[in-house]
Amino acid sequence: MKRATFKDMNEVQAVKDLLDAYPLDHAMRIRAKDRALKWMSRDAKAKSDMTTDLLQGFDLGSAEGRALMELAEAYLRIPDAATRDILLRDKIDAAGWNKESGNATSKLAQYALRMGKGVMGTPLAMLAGPIMATAAKQGMTMLAQHFVMGETIDQATANARKNGRLREWFSFDVLGEGARTHEDAERYFEGYKEAIERVGRNKAGGISVKLSALHPKFEETHRSACFEPMCSKLLHLAKLAAAFNVPLMVDAEEDRRCDLTLAIFEKVRGDAILQGWDRFGLAIQAYLKRTPKTIQFVQDLGQRLNTIINVRLVKGAYWDSEIKYAQMMGHDDFPVFTQKTHTDLSYIVCGHQLLQSSYIRPAFGSHNALSLASLAELAGHDVNAFETQRLHGMGDHIHEAMREEGYSVGVYAPVGPHHDLLPYLVRRLLENGANTSFLKNAAQGDLDKTLLDPCAKLQGRDIRPHPSIRHPHNLYPGRDNSRGINLGDHETLQTTLAKIPQQSPVVNTGASDVQHAVASAQKAFKSWTNTSAENRAQKLEKLADLMETRKHELFALLQNEGRKTLPDAISEVREAQDFCRYYAQQARIQFAPQYLPGPDGERNMYTRHGRGVFACIAPWNFPLAIFIGQCAAALAAGNCVIAKPAEQTPQIGAFAIGLAHEAGIPKDVLHCVQGDGKIGAQLTAHPDIAGVAFTGSYEVGKMIQRTLAQKEGPIVPLIAETAGLNAMAVDSSALPEQVVDDVILSAFGSAGQRCSALRILLIEENAAKRVLPLLQGAMRALRIGNPRDTSNDVGPVIDEEAAQNLHKSIADLKSRGKIVHECAHNETDKTFVAPIAIDMTGQPLPDAEIFGPVLQIYRVKDLAEAVRGVNAKNYALTFGLHTRLPSREKDFESLAEAGNVYINRSMIGAVVGVQPFGGHHRSGTGPKAGGPATLLAYSLEKHISTNTAAAGGNASLVALEDDL
Ligand code: NAD
Repeated sequence: MKRATFKDMNEVQAVKDLLDAYPLDHAMRIRAKDRALKWMSRDAKAKSDMTTDLLQGFDLGSAEGRALMELAEAYLRIPDAATRDILLRDKIDAAGWNKESGNATSKLAQYALRMGKGVMGTPLAMLAGPIMATAAKQGMTMLAQHFVMGETIDQATANARKNGRLREWFSFDVLGEGARTHEDAERYFEGYKEAIERVGRNKAGGISVKLSALHPKFEETHRSACFEPMCSKLLHLAKLAAAFNVPLMVDAEEDRRCDLTLAIFEKVRGDAILQGWDRFGLAIQAYLKRTPKTIQFVQDLGQRLNTIINVRLVKGAYWDSEIKYAQMMGHDDFPVFTQKTHTDLSYIVCGHQLLQSSYIRPAFGSHNALSLASLAELAGHDVNAFETQRLHGMGDHIHEAMREEGYSVGVYAPVGPHHDLLPYLVRRLLENGANTSFLKNAAQGDLDKTLLDPCAKLQGRDIRPHPSIRHPHNLYPGRDNSRGINLGDHETLQTTLAKIPQQSPVVNTGASDVQHAVASAQKAFKSWTNTSAENRAQKLEKLADLMETRKHELFALLQNEGRKTLPDAISEVREAQDFCRYYAQQARIQFAPQYLPGPDGERNMYTRHGRGVFACIAPWNFPLAIFIGQCAAALAAGNCVIAKPAEQTPQIGAFAIGLAHEAGIPKDVLHCVQGDGKIGAQLTAHPDIAGVAFTGSYEVGKMIQRTLAQKEGPIVPLIAETAGLNAMAVDSSALPEQVVDDVILSAFGSAGQRCSALRILLIEENAAKRVLPLLQGAMRALRIGNPRDTSNDVGPVIDEEAAQNLHKSIADLKSRGKIVHECAHNETDKTFVAPIAIDMTGQPLPDAEIFGPVLQIYRVKDLAEAVRGVNAKNYALTFGLHTRLPSREKDFESLAEAGNVYINRSMIGAVVGVQPFGGHHRSGTGPKAGGPATLLAYSLEKHISTNTAAAGGNASLVALEDDL
């Protein structure tokens, strides 16, 4: 069956297609607007609701609005009162609270916060703490109660019965975050089963299922592992739902899960046992450019199975994260429209498509009166043609008006503990508080803006993507972003896999003749350093382009020789390209002569030049990115280069150097010498080496420093990037799921073989209680195996020697600590090391890094004290912090001794020119790689001061006319 894909569809073309298909004529549009007005005036007459109050009272973009939302996101789930108090205090500090806003009905939260502000800094403050805390808790609970139907399915169905009206029914969504562990997935599965049964017995409504709750690895790359188990779980739920005749909807999630969602739905829907049952369906998001094709896919499926499929059309819930994800991953385009009007347009056209389909029963989930009125118009006001849906706690009055007209209204009703659901609710509120939101515009009474139909809005305008949202390829001014590969797209993933050769390309790794290489480079130096920075920059950009065209060969090399997973191989090729383009750009800026201001009659010219022949010595763990990064920096600055790849990865090094030569960098300017530490030592000791760039272990870095110090002649600079003893601090305000995602990625991603990897987790006792069990589960869900299989998360370490060393370190830790979890695997290859997390609380902190998938955990009372302990070890590479407390963020930014500090995110994956990378103390000399200071360290400065008045005075000064 033809798949629904968004590839090759740019936004302008997609919008033009939608405009061509726009189904409302002039008269229909006028009628739709009148109807929307009518529904909304019902709204105005009705008593004010909490959402409207909130949206009017708070500008969610303001400090006040954000503070309230951030408080709501974290307050109820923080286990200890002390941390809750700090959060409250921080949020009160952050917000203005001067505005008189809102009215009395909804504002316990505001009240609590304002009251807090009033007493802050006064003697009353001491007394006010507990009062504030109680009021805030009540305020947050009230906010949650407004949007959550019930904390249990029984409560929710009881509330639904109590509040439900004629022609209104409920679709219960029974959770917040997706599964991180198989245990979570099992629990959620059981929860769904129970919910279906209870809802069925009570005849209370339907159930919405998030597929991400059914499997911790619900990803296209893991299709081979998750597809069958997910199908069987969904089928089980569908059979149960059919038995109780409970409508079952599969929720829509991020675009990268869309192909997999459709495939799972297709298989389950087609199961013979469900034949004849037509209350099964899925949600589709109109903000995706591919949606018309997705609808076609569902229509074809319905036709093929001769069954009705229910479709809930919504605008989409992950818009901002889709934008960020596509930018970060360097995708070819956004999957979503970048302008809200384009989505509004898509909603109507897609809604029309649904209405026309004979195999689809549509439900329109929207709070936009005009969108709904337009669809009502298209349905000829047949109240049975579709159902309308709203979120519980929002948009009540428009839907009430529709219900009165005879439409059936579905209510999407979150069910679950308030502390679990608040993060979800906050997302919803922020979405609706955005400037372009219908609810917000309507709440602020801007009706003309609100009721202009999308077609009219676009009339006479240039159709274009939002000018303030940078396309993923154009993220950086003045240089191209490297291209990523959308591994969430089934077809793209399959094509990519097919293009990566099983065998690496044959590479002649070349010689290890240091003498010859240095002599040849020495000869080439003058002419290379005298080429223009522009010329050098162009060659580096050409090299980046070549890496793009030859990327599949590079992936094969990185996977076979470097033992990398596909996502790691892709990000490494991207990083290497980014280095080339970034240094090219920096060279153009930093190597142009500068004329410095001085007295008339004197010219002061400042220039930069190469130093001579640079030795670039790279490690095996980034055999392309770091290797090429060092070379590119040295070359951009006008140096000749002798590059030595690590002995474990000679082919990658040789292949990359071959590409550089193909890009026009002369062979005598850039040499590759192969070999182990002995060759490295020979190279650094060579008298004609003018500078050394080294990335690797601290011990070797020190050795090189001594070698250089002992040399006669010029003082040779060393740029060293060495080891890290990297810690992450986690307090009890952090979101456990986020912490675990980031710990898994930072500690075990790339089998822990990144210099930035997390080694020491410092975690508050209170947080540990929730985080560690989740971490165990998430580690159990990790798949360890051949990195060529994309469903494996962790591959082997680089070689047997490394594995043996790791086993020794692990044995030592096991003898002193308590295993939190050690992963299992079936690999017989001796290079596999199972990721392990060990609780070392009470033991001294380690003195050095263990370069593999080994995490040492310390449960601590005083995080700041623990961080000072890590600082005392004298490394300073990366540091991570998970907290919701702004004051803690601020304190730790300066407290943590690290070159790179990461807050509420993973600690790995620094991006060139965005997060310049590198540490100090035992972690390196600086300057950071991929930063504004890099090229300066690779170059010499020269200044020429010329007395232009020496011969006969300053003619131009003398000739100056009066300025009267
Ligand atoms: P390593 O120090 O063993 O080797 C690095 C390079 O130095 C290799 O090319 C090796 O052949 C060469 N070498 C070894 N002895 C030498 C000598 N006496 N003189 C000159 N060169 C010599 O490191 P590795 O095992 O390849 O890499 C892992 C280490 O690198 C870890 O400690 C990791 O933290 C560090 N690393 C640091 C960064 C960073 O940016 N700070 C990045 C990646 C890796």
